[in-house]
Amino acid sequence: MQWEAVIGLEIHTQLLTRSKIFSGAPTAFGAEPNTQACAIDLGLPGVLPVLNAEAVRLAVRFGRAIDAEISRRSVFARKNYFYPDLPKGYQISQYEHPIIGRGQVEILLPDGTTKIIGVTRAHLEEDAGKSLHEDFHGLTGIDLNRAGVPLLEIVSEPDMRSPAEAVAYAKKIHQIVRYIGVSDGNMQEGSFRIDANVSVRPGGQQAFGTRTELKNINSFRFLERALAYEIERQIETLESGGTVIQETRLYDPDRDETRSLRTKEEAHDYRYFPDPDLLPLVLDDELIAAAVADLPELPDARRARFQADYGLSTYDAALLTASRELADYFETLACACADPKLAANWINGELASALNRDELEITQSPVTAEQLAGLLKRIQDGTVSGTLAKQVFEGMWETGEPADSLIEARGLKQITDTAAIESIVDAVLAANPAQVAQYRAGKEKVFGFLVGQVMKQTGGRANPTQVNEILKRKLFG
Ligand code: ADP
Ligand code: MG
Repeated sequence: MQWEAVIGLEIHTQLLTRSKIFSGAPTAFGAEPNTQACAIDLGLPGVLPVLNAEAVRLAVRFGRAIDAEISRRSVFARKNYFYPDLPKGYQISQYEHPIIGRGQVEILLPDGTTKIIGVTRAHLEEDAGKSLHEDFHGLTGIDLNRAGVPLLEIVSEPDMRSPAEAVAYAKKIHQIVRYIGVSDGNMQEGSFRIDANVSVRPGGQQAFGTRTELKNINSFRFLERALAYEIERQIETLESGGTVIQETRLYDPDRDETRSLRTKEEAHDYRYFPDPDLLPLVLDDELIAAAVADLPELPDARRARFQADYGLSTYDAALLTASRELADYFETLACACADPKLAANWINGELASALNRDELEITQSPVTAEQLAGLLKRIQDGTVSGTLAKQVFEGMWETGEPADSLIEARGLKQITDTAAIESIVDAVLAANPAQVAQYRAGKEKVFGFLVGQVMKQTGGRANPTQVNEILKRKLFG
């Protein structure tokens, strides 16, 4: 039997505000435990939460970026449960009336096709503190610095049908929140956390199967693997006559498996009710207009423009618009060297692999767009060949020196003087009579050997096109 997976994601993204959603305490990551939680975050008696306007502004920007309904009136509710890292005994969230309603994003799949994924809603809420189970032997530490950090929870429709689609969607949301400055999206620091809901059904069946929820996934690779494992587990369960039970499961990357955390029967009844300490949030046109006025060009639009204006393939354009910083780097380079295709090849080739190797972000690149343009100009005017340029690039990466001074200092200039190349070719032919005879007898593969000899004599600096041409002429002459 053919099975089909159905996947919906709930993504929690921390908003880039300096202070918390209902207090003035700072939100910076990594401070000494419990130095950034004030009386409001601790829920001490007599305090009142005050809504952070910046969190609202960021939520509105996100809503606009995904083409969503922005609610003129939304309501904060108390979600009641007990946990040691939640001293108030409730989380302030939004329930029936979220700030952002129905929206959508387009994902680009590895095979080049696109698909629209619906976003059901996005609501504002406060983050909880953290329980530290590993730092104290036999004890659990509670760090409340994270309590009250603003979150936007983005809930998707169950529109995805494979782990690859789920990853593409999660990456899209990640890309958008970073483009528009809503979140830093730092997954190691927990700024972007994914809960994945997944079920399977027989191919062709309309009704959804029973789903499980995979909690708190903090990397795209784990998302893909957790879903693949869970889909397989559900199919095996059903095929062996069992039933999938609705439950929350945790993915363990070390064992590459999911295990049950709690079942539906143990699920909380949160007893949501409107928070009496907070007025309904009412947005007027002016506030919405101000929030979205300086939205940058969004990733899809930028990708389309890169294809149209620079003649790039969908694939190249998608790679180059992955982040705003990378797209800016490309545009600076493409303009400076006036050859977008060459710029794209160098960024997606040498630069990307060097960044990858040294685990650096584009903003940390030791070679700036202006410096790389200096090198590409030397390829364009024939000073260096493509191969030599790679050596120059490595030098620039290590020393931070400009292309021209490295080419000069390391003698990496290409040899284009015909007479000079001819005399080297003559010497190579004289030194290898056997190979010359073989070539003339029809063994064409020997040609590559002779080219290699000339290159060796010149330290790889002879212009390859000229070497080929001169060698041919001399061998036939
Ligand atoms: P809850 O309120 O219990 O969290 P929701 O209805 O809000 O449930 O759904 C949570 C997420 O689960 C959404 O992203 C939704 O798309 C997804 N989802 C709902 N039903 C299914 C299903 N049968 N299979 C896969 N995902 C589902
Ligand atoms: Mg939920």
